[in-house]
Amino acid sequence: MNATETLIAAADARSAHNYHPLPVVVATADGAWVTDVEGRRYLDLLAGYSALNFGHRNPRLVDAAKAQLERVTLTSRAFHHDLFARFCEELAQLCGMEMVLPMNTGVEAVETAVKTARKWGYRVKGVPGEMAKIVVAGGNFHGRTTTVISFSTDPEARADFGPYTPGFQIVPYGDLTAMESAMTENTVAVLIEPIQGEAGVIVPPEGYLRAVRELTRERNVLFMADEIQSGLGRTGRTFACEDEGVEPDVYVLGKALGGGILPVSAVVASADVLGVFQPGEHGSTFGGNPLACAVALEVMAMLRSGEYQERSARLGEHLHRELQALLGTGKVTAVRGRGLWAGVDVSPAVGTGRQVSERLMDRGVLAKDTHGRTIRIAPPLMISEEDLDWGLDQLRAVLGV
Ligand SMILES: *Cc1c(COP(=O)(O)O)cnc(C)c1O
Repeated sequence: MNATETLIAAADARSAHNYHPLPVVVATADGAWVTDVEGRRYLDLLAGYSALNFGHRNPRLVDAAKAQLERVTLTSRAFHHDLFARFCEELAQLCGMEMVLPMNTGVEAVETAVKTARKWGYRVKGVPGEMAKIVVAGGNFHGRTTTVISFSTDPEARADFGPYTPGFQIVPYGDLTAMESAMTENTVAVLIEPIQGEAGVIVPPEGYLRAVRELTRERNVLFMADEIQSGLGRTGRTFACEDEGVEPDVYVLGKALGGGILPVSAVVASADVLGVFQPGEHGSTFGGNPLACAVALEVMAMLRSGEYQERSARLGEHLHRELQALLGTGKVTAVRGRGLWAGVDVSPAVGTGRQVSERLMDRGVLAKDTHGRTIRIAPPLMISEEDLDWGLDQLRAVLGV
C-alpha cells in the first residue's frame, strides 16, 4: 500500500463513517491548490464548502492569527477581551445591523437564530408560550444538530435520529403562496437560504426573496437569512440577499467568517431582536474568542475592500458562460448559480456525480458531488482566471466534450 492507501485505511478503521471522502489525503495547501501525501497537486474547486473563500492559508489571515497567538487566544465570555467590541461593531456594520451574538460553527448560529426567534416571538410579538412556529423551506440545509435535522427534508439526515423537535413548518422553496398559507399569528420567523447550497446551488425564482421580505414585514415575522454558505463574497456581493436588494431581519453567518482557519459564526440583527437575551440564557465557551475575533476582523477588512466580491462577480460571469456552453453537449442537463458558485447536473450517460468527481480528482481537480447528479463548483474567490480555465478544461475532458 502507498501512503494514501495506508492513511485512508487507518482513518476508516478508527473514524466514524459519517462521510464518504474522495480518496485523496491532503498534506499541504496554498491559495487555490492543495498537495497530497504523494506530492500530487490539485486545484480546489470546493473551497471547504465556502469556508475557504479567501483561499488556503491566505497570508493576511495567517498573519492576523499568528499575531493574535502571541497575545491572547481564549478568555471565555466570563471576562471581556480587547478585540470583542471591535469585532461586534464591525460585523454589525458589515451587515447593516446593530447587534451580534458570536458562536463557533454554522449550526450553532442556526440554533441561536431559532432560540432568538422563539424568545422574540414570546417577549416582543406576544405569541402564547410554547406555540412559536418557524417556517423553513424544503431542500434546506442548516446543519446537523438534533433540532436542525428535525426540519430537514433529507431522509439521510433524519432517519433514526428522532424524536424530532417540533415547531417548524416546511414549505416548498421558491413558493410564496405556500409560505403565506403556512403562516399564522404564531409564526415568529421564516428561516431560508437565499440560495440553497447543499441542495445543489438552487437559485429561487426572481423576486422571491423580495416577496418573502414584504410578506414577513406585513405579518410581523422575522426574516432570517442563512448566509453561512452564500454570504461573504461567494455570489459576487457580500450577501446573496443583496442581489434582490433585500435586508433580512437576521443574518446567520459562519464558514468564511473564520477565514478557513478556525470556526467562527454569528447571528447578526437589530437591537430589538438580539436584545431579548439576558445573562445565562445562551452562550458558548469558545464563541467570540480573541483568536476568532482577530481572524474575523481581518476577513471583514478584506471584504470591505470589495475586491473579493468583484472577483467573484467577474470570474463568475466567465464561469457561468463556459458552463452554459456545456448545456448543448447533452452531457450536462442543468447549470445554476451565481458568482463563483455553480451547480452542474451531469447527464446519467456520463456517470454519477461521484464518478465525475473521482475522474476530476484523477485529473488534479477537487470538486464534490451533491444529491447524486450535481457537481458543485465553488473555488476560492482568489483563484486566478488561468487556474479556473484549467479546471474547466479538466471538467470538459471528464465530460468528453
Ligand atoms: C454549512 C452550512 C451550515 C452548517 O455549518 P457548520 O459549520 O457545518 O455547522 C448551515 N447552513 C448552511 C447554509 C450551510 O451551508
